[in-house]
Amino acid sequence: MEILNLINNKLQAAQSGKWLDDINPANAEVFAKIADSDKADVDLAYEAAAKAYPSWSATPPERRAEILIQIAERISVALDEFALAETTDNGKPLSLSKTVDIPRAIENFKFFAHAITQFSSESHEDIGKQSINFTLRKPIGVVGCISPWNLPLYLFTWKIAPALAAGNCVVAKPSEITPLTAFMLSKIIVESDLPAGVLNIVNGLGPKVGQAIVEHPNIKAISFTGGTATGAQIARTAAPMFKKISLELGGKNPNLIFADCDYEKMLAVTVKSSFRNQGQICLCGSRILVEETIYEQFKKDFIAQVSQLKVGNPLAETTDLGAVVSEAHMQKILTFIDEAKSNTSEYRILYGGNRVYPQNFNKGFYIEPTVIEVNSNACRLNQEEIFGPVVTLMSFKTEAEAIALANDVKYGLSASLWTENLSRSMRIAQQIETGILWVNTWLNRDLRTPFGGMKASGVGREGGLEALRFFTEAKNVCIKY
Ligand code: NDP
Repeated sequence: MEILNLINNKLQAAQSGKWLDDINPANAEVFAKIADSDKADVDLAYEAAAKAYPSWSATPPERRAEILIQIAERISVALDEFALAETTDNGKPLSLSKTVDIPRAIENFKFFAHAITQFSSESHEDIGKQSINFTLRKPIGVVGCISPWNLPLYLFTWKIAPALAAGNCVVAKPSEITPLTAFMLSKIIVESDLPAGVLNIVNGLGPKVGQAIVEHPNIKAISFTGGTATGAQIARTAAPMFKKISLELGGKNPNLIFADCDYEKMLAVTVKSSFRNQGQICLCGSRILVEETIYEQFKKDFIAQVSQLKVGNPLAETTDLGAVVSEAHMQKILTFIDEAKSNTSEYRILYGGNRVYPQNFNKGFYIEPTVIEVNSNACRLNQEEIFGPVVTLMSFKTEAEAIALANDVKYGLSASLWTENLSRSMRIAQQIETGILWVNTWLNRDLRTPFGGMKASGVGREGGLEALRFFTEAKNVCIKY
């Protein structure tokens, strides 16, 4: 299979004629080749987008919405094929692709189709000066969208849907590690009513294709989700060009568990927030902080539940953890675990810690869910993002200590708080340094809410009207009467 670029509604190979391998992490086999594009392909994509822009930006929002809904419906019809493709590319359990990844991609198109028909701007009347100001919100032009491999179609569409809804034309790049569902989307686009050039998808490596999108002088905004180091590189390039940037970056999210929580509910959800998608969700809770009075009990019960999780063939219905995304990523995760194994004064592995070789899939990239007790929040495993099935446990004595530990990290994406005490929830909500706080829940998403991180977890917010604001330029018009 050849994974081609979508440029001006044509599926085409990279102009260089070069290819990359697409590997199934479940069995380490190459199953497709990917267009290994570069700046020349980005330039072509930009030209197509720029040509399409005057007409698309002038298309009434109702018509844009109809086309986005048409795309959503075509993905819905092919949901099973999309889910199988996502699992083949990423290694995640098929059950997850079917119930989370692909439904959410469909929802992203529908949500922003509806949102743009409701998007309104403000007016400010100044009676004293007898003037009225109103805000025009115009699309930006050609924008770049760059997404990672962990939730491939889910995050790809989370960017392109609002960009298109707002009237922009797009040059987008999925991760070269998981480009398959974006390619399937390309085929849907070719057959849809979306005019040629409005959405262009260029495949290939981040430092080549991604960098060329960010460096392009006429691509006016960049919406990026990925690692913090890549985000910093993008900011370095884009800032002197005065581009608008939205950066959704890494996290080291704490779970704060108090003795007054609903214990059974907390336990079940904490297992999920630790290991769903093999721990490769930016919102997974990787630092579990537990009040001292229930710490020993929690440790015992948590490990009992984690030991029930099944690791293996992503296509099997009973699988909880599939493969991690690539061999390189698996080695990175194992390096963190090896550090814990060799430094026993700082770390104690309570469960897991090994690569898994499932029957018939022994070349795939599998890791046991791993639970590590740490002495101090200053250790590397509590400070650096591992982005795999590895969590650490630590106890705290007081609410103030819990907050200090939660905030004592460079990241600030999300946190989960478990308590039945409403006043405590409010105190912590005020003091926690994260863009998202869940109280007695996790990954409970309402697409209308602002989404994003503080500190090294990002700049800007996605979601709902925030995304439409990002993808439009506000122009104030003042009329004196
Ligand atoms: P990367 O930062 O490596 O890559 C993200 C995307 O950027 C990929 O498409 C990548 O291409 C591309 N890229 C790489 N280098 C450049 C460059 N110089 N210029 C432009 N684009 C470039 O992240 P991962 O794919 O490894 O994703 C995992 C990370 O994403 C984790 O840190 C995770 O926390 C974060 N993340 C954050 C989320 C949030 O909402 N805050 C949500 C999900 C993930 P290629 O793949 O070809 O290298």
